Amino acid sequence: MTTETGFRSKLLDLFKDKGALLEGHFVLSSGRHSDQYLQSALLLQDPVIAEELGRALAQKFPGSIQAVISPALGGLIIGHEVARAKGCRAIFSEKDDQGKPVLRRGFSIKPDERVLVVEDVITTGLSTAEVLWLVEQSGGQIMGVGSIVNRSQTNEKLLSWKKPVHSLLTVEVKSWEASACPLCANGIPPVKPGSRKK
Ligand code: ZN
Repeated sequence: MTTETGFRSKLLDLFKDKGALLEGHFVLSSGRHSDQYLQSALLLQDPVIAEELGRALAQKFPGSIQAVISPALGGLIIGHEVARAKGCRAIFSEKDDQGKPVLRRGFSIKPDERVLVVEDVITTGLSTAEVLWLVEQSGGQIMGVGSIVNRSQTNEKLLSWKKPVHSLLTVEVKSWEASACPLCANGIPPVKPGSRKK
């Protein structure tokens, strides 16, 4: 029997087992600082796990989906796996010189196309909201937002869209503005996990 709670604790264990739950001093993609970081790429490097997570996330959106869009780079693999489970295509957005998401490589969204936005981790919801805006500008129908991890259940930027948001794991991880970060105050240098070379 796989209960919702059972799946969530199994997933958190998986993050720990794979060394994907990092502890230290991190700069998140939002610019906020945190003492924990969920490096989902370490989970997704196993294609069997990636496929399983994609299937589980796809099941949370029972309606028909015509395209999954993910922001590069973090959302790419899970978006691809959700699209596999849904039998639709997977596209991704990239950032332009101003840091706004755009479609390149010949990717497009047709008017009224049913589009699901898929992320690896939602932190502030700001970058996700920008992808929602991109889908809307393209004339697509936003069917919802899915992520492996959600760290921002209370995020207004995302919730103001009034679209279904489903995640496999919801975790409250403390984060601070850089100016209010207690780790910075202690003189500990922060790292950017997304760009860190190991
Ligand atoms: Zn800091």
